[in-house]
Amino acid sequence: MSKSRPVRAARGTELTAKSWQTEGPLRMLMNNLDPEVAEHPENLVVYGGTGKAARNWEAYDAIVRTLTTLEKDETLLVQSGKPVGVFRTHEWAPRVLIANSNLVGDWATWPEFRRLEALGLTMYGQMTAGSWIYIGTQGILQGTYETFAAVAAKRFGGTLAGTLTLTGGAGGMGGAQPLAVTMNDGAVLIVDVDESRLRRRVEHGYLDELAPDLDAAVARVIQAKTEKRALSVGVVGNAATVFTELLERRVPIDIVTDQTSAHDPLAYLPEGVTVKEWHALADADPAEFTERARASMARQVTAMVGFQDAGAEVFDYGNSIRAEAELGGCTRAFDFPGFVPAYIRPLFAEGKGPFRWVALSGDPADIAATDTAIVELFPGDEHLRRWITKAQDTVHFEGLPARICWLGYQERHLAGLKFNEMVASGELSAPIVIGRDHLDSGSVASPYRETEGMKDGSDAIADWPLLNALLNTASGATWVSIHHGGGVGIGRSIHAGQVIVADGTPLAAEKIARVLTNDPGTGVMRHVDAGYERAEEVARERGLRVPMWES
Ligand code: NAD
Repeated sequence: MSKSRPVRAARGTELTAKSWQTEGPLRMLMNNLDPEVAEHPENLVVYGGTGKAARNWEAYDAIVRTLTTLEKDETLLVQSGKPVGVFRTHEWAPRVLIANSNLVGDWATWPEFRRLEALGLTMYGQMTAGSWIYIGTQGILQGTYETFAAVAAKRFGGTLAGTLTLTGGAGGMGGAQPLAVTMNDGAVLIVDVDESRLRRRVEHGYLDELAPDLDAAVARVIQAKTEKRALSVGVVGNAATVFTELLERRVPIDIVTDQTSAHDPLAYLPEGVTVKEWHALADADPAEFTERARASMARQVTAMVGFQDAGAEVFDYGNSIRAEAELGGCTRAFDFPGFVPAYIRPLFAEGKGPFRWVALSGDPADIAATDTAIVELFPGDEHLRRWITKAQDTVHFEGLPARICWLGYQERHLAGLKFNEMVASGELSAPIVIGRDHLDSGSVASPYRETEGMKDGSDAIADWPLLNALLNTASGATWVSIHHGGGVGIGRSIHAGQVIVADGTPLAAEKIARVLTNDPGTGVMRHVDAGYERAEEVARERGLRVPMWES
């Protein structure tokens, strides 16, 4: 039987597979499981509760073996983290096709998923865990930074200076919150039950300090708020308990959100349970544990509603905590909005979303060169320049060096083509992998998150992400994935991902031009169809064909 072991992707220009088109997915699978990147690599868990990169270590070994020998006209099929077939296709076809955690509607519940998982038949792929394009906490940093910037613009005159944010969950994604707030000049208190998660964020530069107790933490952040100073402070505690206590104490908190792993009730620690007891109790009686977790979420969300009643800006940060709290008996759970309708939807209407790239060389100088290139490519975009400069100053790379920035329709392919040219000319020392989160404008159906409150009521229509995946497959992406349940949990979302390898060849350029145009194009298409005016403008200005407009 294969055993858990530390994994690290190869660096440099020497191939371990037969071409860069297979070396790309191979290094990215390994990078997802790098102990510097993954939250619990020994269990193949990358982030987001139990989001995994491969079903088990035997499956991992078989994927590595297959990718190492795969030919340039073959395609590997991966079913929920297990490689199940290799087929002869052609050079334009993806080298890997992935389907993770998909279940037929009536069976799409956590208990049924867990039953099947225990039988070894499936795994939870989250979004970028099972599709091998997770880049550590930076992956969510820009989106989180943008969200807090939007909060600042909406409520606080364009800056978070002088404000105090309260949040929970310092895991793989949630750990970006403290840095995103301080990048917007605010003070923030973050609560996590697991001290090791908070320490990791301090070590990686995402959190300024860890307080010894709640009183000390409150004193530190209040002082920073008063002095209008950016500061992030972590405190160990249960968010349900701490949020309730801070509300009772009337601590002057301006913004409240949460990124505990609420989407999976077994990954949310109920009050009265210690971190040590957590997994044994959850395994022993998942139904009872779920009930206790939901009751605690109900308490936490009740406190969040209380903060809103007291005038704070409160939002659900995409972890389904409102839905779980409602199941736990909180009747006012949906009194506050999700972050997408509140702040992100206008960006989605332009096909904008979390575009990202990774230097397969492992050399930070390659990312520095792409940073310069991207700023030069969009000289009028001051917002982008500011973000890249801040990211260069503050982001500590985890695993292979990577960068993220939000680009839209008719922008992403320009960046991709430029990177491909830089690989061809030798300006970059090795190929670049270009991908995105599944949380994107055209690739997801998720009524509690990305598609909450769609203008035409189409929140739960899941044809869109499937069309997105099919189009990316037809356009030349290097690997394409279709997942269920990412972000908000089983039964609540369907989403797709694509990644393309810029290896410097003319063929890669042709594929990049299509994939990186068509992929965000589906986002504009989806929002045109739902009746968003901004999407209609973008479609007309940037030449997206909409058959229903043609006579
Ligand atoms: P993670 O599993 O890595 O981290 C979750 C953290 O929550 C852990 O550190 C855990 O100790 C802590 N936690 C659990 N119960 C707690 C409690 N009662 N009180 C305080 N802390 C508690 O997950 P992640 O990758 O950070 O993702 C967090 C959530 O955000 C997930 O639900 C995920 O699906 C969602 N998510 C949101 C976005 C977004 O764009 N907003 C993107 C990806 C994921």
